Amino acid sequence: MLALAGYPMGLQFRVLDPGVDPPAGEMAPAVTAQFDDLMALDAFMDGCDVVTFEFEQVPADSARHIARHVPVHPSPDILEVAQDRLAEKDLFASLDIPTARFARVDDHRMLTDAVATIGGPSILKTRGGGYDGKGQVRIATESDTVHAWEDLGAAPCILEEVVDFERELSIIAARTEGGDIAFYPPVENHHRDGLLRLSIAPAPDLTQDLVDQAEHHARAILERYDYQGILAIELFEKNGVLFGNEFAPRVHNSGHWTIEGAETSQFENHLRGVLGLPLGDPSARGYAAMVNLIGTLPDTTEVLAAGGHLHLYGKEPRPGRKLGHITVRADSAADLAVAIERISALIDQGRS
Ligand code: AMP
Repeated sequence: MLALAGYPMGLQFRVLDPGVDPPAGEMAPAVTAQFDDLMALDAFMDGCDVVTFEFEQVPADSARHIARHVPVHPSPDILEVAQDRLAEKDLFASLDIPTARFARVDDHRMLTDAVATIGGPSILKTRGGGYDGKGQVRIATESDTVHAWEDLGAAPCILEEVVDFERELSIIAARTEGGDIAFYPPVENHHRDGLLRLSIAPAPDLTQDLVDQAEHHARAILERYDYQGILAIELFEKNGVLFGNEFAPRVHNSGHWTIEGAETSQFENHLRGVLGLPLGDPSARGYAAMVNLIGTLPDTTEVLAAGGHLHLYGKEPRPGRKLGHITVRADSAADLAVAIERISALIDQGRS
């Protein structure tokens, strides 16, 4: 999707992926190599003007290796913070971004202490490697603590209070060299089994205060890191307050609606940001929703006939795998709700 956004601006791409036949290989020459294969990285970066990433588990040291020769945006430092849930929460706290109460857990004893300190339902999460709800377990009773830490592989963890939120939102923002920032309107996200299913853009019932909080949180991170490119922050809304859950220093699934739903897509603005080009207008064009295609695919003809904008990633179907998404657009919130219903029904048919 980055390459698709970049070709009209005359950009050229090369991709690196450890997997054979990566979907992005349909768009640009692909190098197949492990992210820590320094010789492969050297060959990959040769002739590149800038290097970016759209996958958060790229080792920060590999990004640093490249950054010694070719600019890497966003910076390897913010990438490293995003890979550690504790560092992430510490960053939120240092920037006055509210978070769930949290505590570091390195062993069983620290877990028992942390559960007592937080004092209510909590979630134990591995600090590294977790995404899409993986690497976490809920702790409701004292007996849950007995195996929780071992169940997560006795790895360094963070314990978080369960936030009794009303809904989940996210904000996506872009920053370019020199400090210009573009904020997309916050969107409302619906998850099931830890996976994003639906994003509604703009989020219904947004108040100016909610928008101001979301933009404050994004600006604080962007400016702290002299950031270039797209940043996404996942937020919980509770009693009018936005809590930071996690951030992603990359284009984000909850921003895929911007391809058809905004004046300038997150992909185009990411490229503009990392290249030091002027940012494009992030305004929404009416109302949009993005529905993920997970595990199975609906009938293409029916989706197109229903007015859906179909995006298939060329991945082999597998349960729980994100295979693509559909965006629908409308001129009113009521029309959008109808379009979401129609597309969701087609997706459910594809599943049965
Ligand atoms: P994460 O991997 O941190 O994004 O968590 C996946 C999902 O678990 C989130 O989208 C929330 O629905 C839920 N979740 C994570 N952390 C918390 C929390 N501290 N309180 C309540 N729900 C949470």
